Amino acid sequence: MTSSSRRAAYLAVSLVWTACAGQPRLFEAVEPHMGTLVRIRLYAEGEEQAAPAMHAAFARIAEVDRELSDYLPDSEVNRLCRAPAGTPVAVSADLFRVLEASQDLAAESGGEFDVTLGPVIRLWRQARRDGLMPAADALKEARARTGYAKMRLDAGARTVTLAQAGMQLDLGAIGKGYAADAALAVLCERGITRALVAASGDLAFGDPPPGHGGWRIGIDTRVLELRNAAVSTSGAAQQHADIGGKRYSHIIDPASGLGLTAPITVSVIAPRGIESDSLSTAVSVLGAERGLKLIAKRPHTAALIAGGGRVIASPGWPGEKR
Ligand code: AMP
Ligand code: MG
Repeated sequence: MTSSSRRAAYLAVSLVWTACAGQPRLFEAVEPHMGTLVRIRLYAEGEEQAAPAMHAAFARIAEVDRELSDYLPDSEVNRLCRAPAGTPVAVSADLFRVLEASQDLAAESGGEFDVTLGPVIRLWRQARRDGLMPAADALKEARARTGYAKMRLDAGARTVTLAQAGMQLDLGAIGKGYAADAALAVLCERGITRALVAASGDLAFGDPPPGHGGWRIGIDTRVLELRNAAVSTSGAAQQHADIGGKRYSHIIDPASGLGLTAPITVSVIAPRGIESDSLSTAVSVLGAERGLKLIAKRPHTAALIAGGGRVIASPGWPGEKR
């Protein structure tokens, strides 16, 4: 079975709906994308409207993946990294938008969020497979090829210049949130506004289900109702390396080049997934105190930070304990 026919079969079995006389009906489908399962729920008049819209939304996610993935050797971002150093490279609107948001957050977080950490992240992926710490000299060499100041963006020309050879961009902390936004936008173009897109820990919500104030989602001990917003959760729960009795997160502290060791789980609500995804990772690195300052500066965002036996909610977090 080819991967596209497998995907189609997956869609056929997973497209389900519930009937409710005179009301739009709920449809749901799940497909594998971006190394995870992506779930779409939407309300539509009928299958004739729902099925092609689902198809278009998943196709859009696949397109974003071909642009942003560091796993696909021929993705647009990997081709950009192979271009000669110092040469401006014209890029797609999607890639430019994601890199622009990444650079803004890098500057705001004092470089704690940094999509140029690719060389270090690759070493840590290998470390996770081997169960061994990256060698000190390899880590030093990889770190010398990182640094967000070495990436320059020209908005007028929509070009990206990487100043140094061997740089590697990693959009793992922002791409899924952006893909969820992009899929919601495709549904909206087709007249479907009551929808949610969930790419593992990154969820984007449109208008609420009929008769409800929002989409219900459980985070920590609270149930939230969200509409026209996004929520992302970052933490070491799913991905980490256990080496020498220590647990290293897949999130890297750029100051040391090491995976975070403090257990912290961060959820962020923001208007869009591009922002909630990247902020949840940034706040994980910054820690509670500096993270909450960053959240306070971003309009319409809120965070819930759990770690070290404490749960801290930013002032705007819905359902905040009084
Ligand atoms: P998330 O699960 O959204 O928190 O993203 C984690 C992923 O972001 C990792 O698997 C890496 O691909 C990437 N990453 C790790 N550390 C950083 C960092 N300090 N800044 C930006 N991206 C990072
Ligand atoms: Mg993230």
